[in-house]
Amino acid sequence: MSANTFNPQTCHDYLYENAPKKLAFTNQGDLPRWQNEIRGKLQELIGVMPEPVDLDLRVEFEEEHETFFERRFVFQSEEWCHVPCHLLIPKTGSGPYPLVICLQGHTTGMHISLGRAKYAGDERYLGGDRDFAIQAVEQGYAALTLEQRCFGERHDAQPDHVHRCQQGTMGALLLGRTMVGERIWDVKRAIDAITAFSEVDANRIACMGNSGGGTITYYAACLEPRISIAMASCSVCTYKDSIGRIYHCTDNYVPGVYQYFEMGDLAGCLAPRPLVVVAGREDDIFPIQGVEENFAIVQAIYDAAGVPENCRLVIGDGGHRFYAQPGWEAFQQISPW
Ligand SMILES: [Zn+2]
Repeated sequence: MSANTFNPQTCHDYLYENAPKKLAFTNQGDLPRWQNEIRGKLQELIGVMPEPVDLDLRVEFEEEHETFFERRFVFQSEEWCHVPCHLLIPKTGSGPYPLVICLQGHTTGMHISLGRAKYAGDERYLGGDRDFAIQAVEQGYAALTLEQRCFGERHDAQPDHVHRCQQGTMGALLLGRTMVGERIWDVKRAIDAITAFSEVDANRIACMGNSGGGTITYYAACLEPRISIAMASCSVCTYKDSIGRIYHCTDNYVPGVYQYFEMGDLAGCLAPRPLVVVAGREDDIFPIQGVEENFAIVQAIYDAAGVPENCRLVIGDGGHRFYAQPGWEAFQQISPW
């Protein structure tokens, strides 16, 4: 045997290829029933969810910019847990506007979605089409940036780790939770909060993000039916080719997934709602062959749901980043609004 069987990865690689995946899509049987089953299993695997409390919504300031109005507000997501947000309302058109929830990945925080530098070294994140909220407003949508747990204003109180999600994510595990579950909860409560603002049409909500923000976009859309279209960039890939083999920070992981499904199978939670998957041909942490293998599962599920056109794979010619032009073009083509 030539492989190094002393290290854990060799064994895990074997197990990934031979994982039970008990709820993998087979295109047999009752589709809606399977969709319910896989949705229920994902809900279980992301762990214990927080309890809802009063939103305690507080608007902190409002500003007028050249092309949009900006409102900063804070809401309470659960006990001892508040979420800062910025809502942008376009000056063009007339409300109520469809809303795009914009989720950054592992950058320094939501201000990157606003195209703003805030902390030392932010310049490195300002490229790569990461100013999602500005892009959304330019398309005529309202945009919501919310600070995700462990990032930006919500980073943990530990000394400055390379990966600031480490302590928060491991602490969540001690509580029977996952960071994925906690972040999905914040998205759900943000949607509750947004109903307070008459400029926003709460029946037309999209969610988009890149990298860790794409991961939460995908999982949140799986479990939150009020998200009517999702655009997940540089994140939707086979687990075995991305987080299973390549170093990623801890907040990307949902324990036990391979007992039940591959990431692509979870499109069963989404279909027939529209889904845009964006990828980078040179992305070295979500390799393109894994993205394509995974998207083949996604496509098969949308085919079976009778809406093959409602999922799109967009591949940009570059690395781990968002690709605004082809991404928004695909979004517009399959958007229900
Ligand atoms: Zn992280």
